[in-house]
Amino acid sequence: MPHWTLVIIGGGAAGLSAAAAAAAAASGQSCLLIDRMGGGGELMNLGTLHDLGEDLTGPDLMARLQEDAMTAGAELGLAEVTGLARTSTGWCIETDDETHTAAAVILATGLAPGTLGLSNEAEFEGMGLSHCAACDGPLYAGQAVVVAGADRWAVQEAVELAAATCRVTLITQNEPVPVADTVTVIAGRITALEGANGLDSITVQTGSAPAQRIETPVVFLQTGRRPAVDFAPPALARDADGRLITDGSLRTNLPGLFAAGDTRAGASRTLAAAMADGRLAAESALSAAGLKT
Ligand SMILES: Cc1cc2nc3c(=O)[nH]c(=O)nc-3n(C[C@H](O)[C@H](O)[C@H](O)COP(=O)(O)OP(=O)(O)OC[C@H]3O[C@@H](n4cnc5c(N)ncnc54)[C@H](O)[C@@H]3O)c2cc1C
Repeated sequence: MPHWTLVIIGGGAAGLSAAAAAAAAASGQSCLLIDRMGGGGELMNLGTLHDLGEDLTGPDLMARLQEDAMTAGAELGLAEVTGLARTSTGWCIETDDETHTAAAVILATGLAPGTLGLSNEAEFEGMGLSHCAACDGPLYAGQAVVVAGADRWAVQEAVELAAATCRVTLITQNEPVPVADTVTVIAGRITALEGANGLDSITVQTGSAPAQRIETPVVFLQTGRRPAVDFAPPALARDADGRLITDGSLRTNLPGLFAAGDTRAGASRTLAAAMADGRLAAESALSAAGLKT
């Protein structure tokens, strides 16, 4: 069974930054990053990035972070982590491919795509329900589309889609705020998806007002995203939304186990913050594993 100084689970901005920092600092020590999609995480779904101070797309940044991690000496593995258990000397990480052990582990698994909680939702996955506006938006050029979600990235997505589609409706469960002239905001909840061969329309319920039907071929879903860390021990402390609770050094409540990026409680959900988290978690994990950074 391969043994590593550090295993990082999740290869998005946080995990790749952790891998680069750990491998660079822990010369001669071993660092493995495991990702079920091969790495990049949310970056794979993003077009032009905001707030980074440079003109980059998601895939550009992903390529740069992967290059940094590999140059520093981290190993990048493709596998889904299915189990994580404490051992007498560290952690045992089970994947769908092989089992590893490590002195310390960083969880950087981000947030899984959200759902609307509707019984027929699975029928519309890829047939009118999308989690990636940058990938699927161009397919709907000139059509009326819906974005569901309320956070700043959902709003950003709605504004960007409006440039390519004829009309965007943003459905939010928050108080509606003006977004842009090109985006209609409705406060409400999607209660039904309708269509025989793909999506034709949705039903939206706003408080006690009569439900309204909106014709649309697609809903870009940016709501209800939650950490997907079912493989982790139940004793791992989580907040009410399932996010992992850490201290200021990104230590969880379990020894030798750290969390970084969107998956942790209090994360500000930006790329700069995820990358900074990755670097801090690497430093903390190496010092927990008995290595000075
Ligand atoms: C629509 C949208 C637009 C955004 N635009 C911007 C922007 O312009 N600027 C900005 O600063 N921020 C933006 N953000 C926020 C930013 O993308 C995230 O904060 C950041 O990507 C989070 O990185 P992460 O590494 O924490 O998680 P992720 O990128 O989600 O990476 C998690 C990784 O973990 C892997 N994983 C999960 N479970 C397992 C498992 N069991 N086994 C193995 N691997 C696993 C996944 O495959 C994934 O690669 C945007 C977010 C969204 C949703």
